[in-house]
Amino acid sequence: MARRKMVYEGKAKILYEGTEPGTFVQYFKDDATANNAEKKDVIDGKGVLNNRMSEFFMTGLEHLGIPTHFLKRLNMREQLIRQCDIIPLEVIVRNVAAGSMAKRLGIEEGTKLPRPIVEFSYKNDDLGDPLVPEEYIIAFGWAAQQELDDIIALALRVNDYLSGVMYGVGIKLVDFKIEIGRVVEGDFQRLVIADEISPDSCRLWDIQSGKKLDKDVFRHDLGDLADAYTEVAQRLGILQVNVTQPTKPTLIN
Ligand code: UDP
Repeated sequence: MARRKMVYEGKAKILYEGTEPGTFVQYFKDDATANNAEKKDVIDGKGVLNNRMSEFFMTGLEHLGIPTHFLKRLNMREQLIRQCDIIPLEVIVRNVAAGSMAKRLGIEEGTKLPRPIVEFSYKNDDLGDPLVPEEYIIAFGWAAQQELDDIIALALRVNDYLSGVMYGVGIKLVDFKIEIGRVVEGDFQRLVIADEISPDSCRLWDIQSGKKLDKDVFRHDLGDLADAYTEVAQRLGILQVNVTQPTKPTLIN
């Protein structure tokens, strides 16, 4: 049996050469890291859950006409994706102050922002992904001005979609990170949503209780990460809830 070629190994995923030209296979690992890999663990089942959830969100975006790198899920842990050149930016959209923003500005975590805010970090682990202004992005040539405008518009559309989907299942989308790739199609180049969309890269709070259902559970030792991700997947209808007792219809007053 031929051994397939690994193209890249990251903290949570591995990329292999794809089955067709212009494709990669993206493999979701169970590894969890936080604080630039200072904290590490293996969370059984995380890769399987994130593969399914990323498929769900990317497919939903495609239905809205938002292009993504996703082609199809291959198995429990792998999906076929379009090859693209990743722009070296973490594109972060925030609806509610949390994490690094709350800390940097001294805003109480949970404060609703006046409007969604898009910000950028330069993807560089050695530097700890520093926050960068748009001026740097243009000056250092990481993206052109037109691309940056398109990235902001795309990020806000993803925010509207994800916020709506989450709201529908009783979850508040506090913030999230996406990565953007360039795909060349003949004479044209277009931007696609790449990497993954999962609770690893979002902050998700239960609307009723405020309970955290994302990677902060791991970052701050708040409980079982796989349980939190399973709950998100179940609410989204991706995983079947094990019903042991048949449920009876109940009257609502
Ligand atoms: N995020 C991510 N990868 C990173 C940094 C941040 O997926 O390398 C996500 C994080 O999960 C959160 C959002 O981006 O949903 C904003 O993160 P923040 O800047 O608050 O950083 P953090 O507090 O996670 O260090």
